[in-house]
Amino acid sequence: MAAREEQGTLVITGGSRGIGAACARLAATKGYDIAVSYAENEAAANQVVADCHAAGAHAIAVQGNVADETDVMKLFERADKELGHITAVINNAGIVAPQGTIETLDHARMKRLFEINILGAFTVAREATKHLAKRNGGDGGAIVNISSAASRLGSPNEYIDYAASKGALDTLTIGLAKELAGEGVRVNAVRPGIIDTDIHASGGEPDRVERLKDQLPMGRAGTADEVAQPVVWLLSDEASYITGALLDIAGGR
Ligand code: NAP
Repeated sequence: MAAREEQGTLVITGGSRGIGAACARLAATKGYDIAVSYAENEAAANQVVADCHAAGAHAIAVQGNVADETDVMKLFERADKELGHITAVINNAGIVAPQGTIETLDHARMKRLFEINILGAFTVAREATKHLAKRNGGDGGAIVNISSAASRLGSPNEYIDYAASKGALDTLTIGLAKELAGEGVRVNAVRPGIIDTDIHASGGEPDRVERLKDQLPMGRAGTADEVAQPVVWLLSDEASYITGALLDIAGGR
């Protein structure tokens, strides 16, 4: 068997399920050690960690809410201390909320969604920069933000708040990529279309993929693995001149 080429530590927020878990499993096979963050689902996080171990990686699960600044700082501290040198970050944790027109979006729901999807992602990007940027003593690296096709579609009558939160992630990607281009850190975003994960059930519509699949150009939703492949590629040296890119992974949607 070929020797494992060590890639350093990869921090993935929301790595216990869906797209984050698929990224963790794939990256573990590519030489990364993985810090898997999760909100509540300890069993799922532990399973991802076990799968990473089976692939030869060191891995830990770290509970925390990305909307809580202290939790995010602890995630990076633990990853650095227990796994070593952080070289890559996937800013993935995110939520949707039940669908409705703008009149139905109550303040508490919007606050929670923006706190997790925007404030959380910005805090993660800030902590990532502290570890990766050369000006902070880092060796450079890569960040991938998990945005959504919703940022360009707007999600009318479904969840404009969610779509707008992903618009913020696109703008974060463009600005931070320029801010860190001279610091050895590449920052990109992917914009998945409809991907078959639990998020649709948590947002209140478990059958959303089934309902929409015939309207999708390819006649099907994407899989978490189909998102993980380009995400992990964007982290790699093969993508060494790509920064500030917003890559649609949406099957033509
Ligand atoms: P998912 O299957 O619902 O998984 C969500 C993950 O995020 C879980 O690991 C969950 O942890 C974690 N999480 C949720 N809230 C968190 C919080 N406050 N703090 C820390 N972790 C938290 O979601 P997914 O479909 O894989 O989505 C992942 C990302 O892709 C999201 O940013 C989403 O907006 C984006 N995306 C998804 C789709 C899609 O169709 N699926 C399309 C475009 C973009 P627990 O397991 O502990 O709950």
